[in-house]
Amino acid sequence: KNLTEKEILETAEQVFASGWKSIKLYFMIGLPTETKSDLEGIAELANQVFNRGKKLIKHPEVTVSVSTFIPKPHTPFQWLDMLNREEIRFRQNYLRRSLKNKWINFKWQEPEMSILEGVMARGDRRLGSVIAEAFAKGARFDGWTELFNFSLWEQAFQTEGVDPNFYLEAKNEASILPWEMIDAGVAKDFLWQEYHNAFQEKETLDCRNGSCNQCGVCDFKSIYPRFNFFESSANKPTVVWKQISEEEKVKKVRLYFRKVGEARFLSHLEMVHVFARAIRRAGIPLKYSQGFHPQPKISFGPALPVGLESQEELVDIEIKGGFSLPNIINQLNQQLPLGIEVFSGEEITLQTPSISDSLSEVAYAFRFTGSPSLSRYSPKEVKKKLDDFLSKTNWMITREHKGQLETLDIRAVVKEIIFNHETVEFTLWGTQAFRLRPQEVIKAIFGLPEEELLTLPIKKTKTKLGKKWDQN
Ligand code: SF4
Repeated sequence: KNLTEKEILETAEQVFASGWKSIKLYFMIGLPTETKSDLEGIAELANQVFNRGKKLIKHPEVTVSVSTFIPKPHTPFQWLDMLNREEIRFRQNYLRRSLKNKWINFKWQEPEMSILEGVMARGDRRLGSVIAEAFAKGARFDGWTELFNFSLWEQAFQTEGVDPNFYLEAKNEASILPWEMIDAGVAKDFLWQEYHNAFQEKETLDCRNGSCNQCGVCDFKSIYPRFNFFESSANKPTVVWKQISEEEKVKKVRLYFRKVGEARFLSHLEMVHVFARAIRRAGIPLKYSQGFHPQPKISFGPALPVGLESQEELVDIEIKGGFSLPNIINQLNQQLPLGIEVFSGEEITLQTPSISDSLSEVAYAFRFTGSPSLSRYSPKEVKKKLDDFLSKTNWMITREHKGQLETLDIRAVVKEIIFNHETVEFTLWGTQAFRLRPQEVIKAIFGLPEEELLTLPIKKTKTKLGKKWDQN
């Protein structure tokens, strides 16, 4: 924390002199290179703080609170191992014995809790089933010591065949770390260098006061080091605009993909995460929005209802660098989960209207033999019902929308219906399509009950874009 012992003692003295009776000191044990003398140093410092207080007040209270070092992801120590349970307990006991003064309280975290924290911080996707299993066995509110039951977690690890110690072992430079798919901004090379600097006791200066250490976070346009007071003072650094290289140039691509199988249960928001993650894993640099919460520039068309498969979905992404389209598609498909596959794409200008603004038609299809109610109709009867619907100039329905009843003319939304033996394909006008679920059209025409609509195997088959004036 860049505080000298002298500064700590002087501050403690000021605190006691100002009337406070107790001081809590926070320490961490288990850091690399720690020796017994470091633990003794904690006890010594606590004693000195107590003695400064004793000179000023009658009963000073000092509490020493000790946590255990966890080599956290995205830090220079991410490659280190963590102390095991026995060693943590040994060091805690050693420290407790070193604190001989009965007026100094000692607080610590149970080693089992630290171990579990370490595993959760450093673990991978296999922990998902362990967490579910521990929950099933009754693990709840584990942050509350009175409810924390480590044996439930041990059983869960055993049931799921996951060795927690594996996650706490040291890694080397070549190790694939589970958290590498998250880009925290700081370059891995920089962290590796810092890791070595730490062992050589080389200090890295605060870049806000001096020169850039090239950690990789800043682009020196929207992201650069600053103190808060820069905004209102003459100290604001001058931003130097660089010539944009080919690698930094932004391009926008429109990708066409399928969403089928289990992937149909991914929500619209989850799809944004899925694509952002896949793009990062593919090593394609994404463009982010500006401001305090930069978001990846990924935009889909109107949300596809959860549970509906689609043979043609669209997404626009803005990326940097000279990646070719086939390269992007190929690399993305290697990273996307099962059920999502990009099958084509095109490069578009940054000014191209969004997918939602360009939507011209959306088509859905279902097999009427897939529904118990509909399969009671003969093909002739199905055709008659469809013709009847199409012959009308309007077809009003009343439905509940956002808690209010509204009336909607669904005939105006349906462009065409094609009946082909067992399959019904209907096309909705793009500008209206997002107002209507495909199930609502089927319900209106055939009067199907709500429960059956939920299981009707409807698929989205086509998304057509065009200019707004193409429609209606
Ligand atoms: S100036 Fe930016 S890039 Fe350089 S070390 Fe500081 S945070 Fe990292």
